[in-house]
Formats: sequence, C-alpha cells, structure tokens
Amino acid sequence: MSGVPESSPFLSIGFTARELCTRCGSCAGVCPVQAIGFDERRFPVLIPGRCISCGLCGKVCPGKEVRFGDLAEQVFGERFGNPGFDGHVEKTYVGYAADERLRSGGAGGGS
Ligand code: SF4
Ligand code: SF4
Repeated sequence: MSGVPESSPFLSIGFTARELCTRCGSCAGVCPVQAIGFDERRFPVLIPGRCISCGLCGKVCPGKEVRFGDLAEQVFGERFGNPGFDGHVEKTYVGYAADERLRSGGAGGGS
C-alpha cells in the first residue's frame, strides 16, 4: 500500500479537487514511476506503492495552478459571491415554454 494519500498537496488536481480535472492525462504522462492510472471515467488514480512524492504531476497539471477566485477578481472585479459555485454569475433566470403542451411534454420545461 502506498504511503502517499491521494489528498497530498503536491499531487495533481484530479486527486484533491476532481471537479477541476480536465482528464488530460498529463499527470500520468510525466510521472517517472508510472504511479498514476485512470478509473473508468478517466480520472487519475494512484497506483498503490509507487509514488515517490516528486510533485511532477502537480507541476504539469493545468487545473492546479488556476486560482479561480483571483481570476474572477481580475476579469469581473470581484471574487465569487457563492463559495460553493465554481464560476462568476451575472444573472440567473428561470424559463419555461409558454405552450402548456410543450412545457408538460419536455424534460427541461420545454425550453
Ligand atoms: S494533469 Fe490533467 S488528468 Fe491529471 S489531474 Fe491535472 S487535469 Fe487531471
Ligand atoms: S511519483 Fe511524482 S509524478 Fe508520480 S504520482 Fe507521485 S508525485 Fe506525482
């Protein structure tokens, strides 16, 4: 069993914040000891007992170095208002088809 937990901060983002992983495979490609495999959805997984904690996977990961809070502040002039949401929101709307037949027959409200 590997002594390196998947929450280790030097690992690529797929291990610590999976929602930011693009599944590009770069982390597995640079790993010098082939310690990274993929699950059935193509997210990276650590192969037990192989990781030597070199940190290379975290350095090449395109998802890891993006600080979305800082990016939002730079682009939109403010950080996220909702910490549970991953992007900047200007406005939100709820819509549905005015035609009752379409509305009741469509999975998304006929929109
Ligand atoms: S390098 Fe690519 S596949 Fe690996 S964790 Fe980062 S985004 Fe995901
Ligand atoms: S050996 Fe290095 S590149 Fe491979 S998983 Fe561990 S920290 Fe990442």
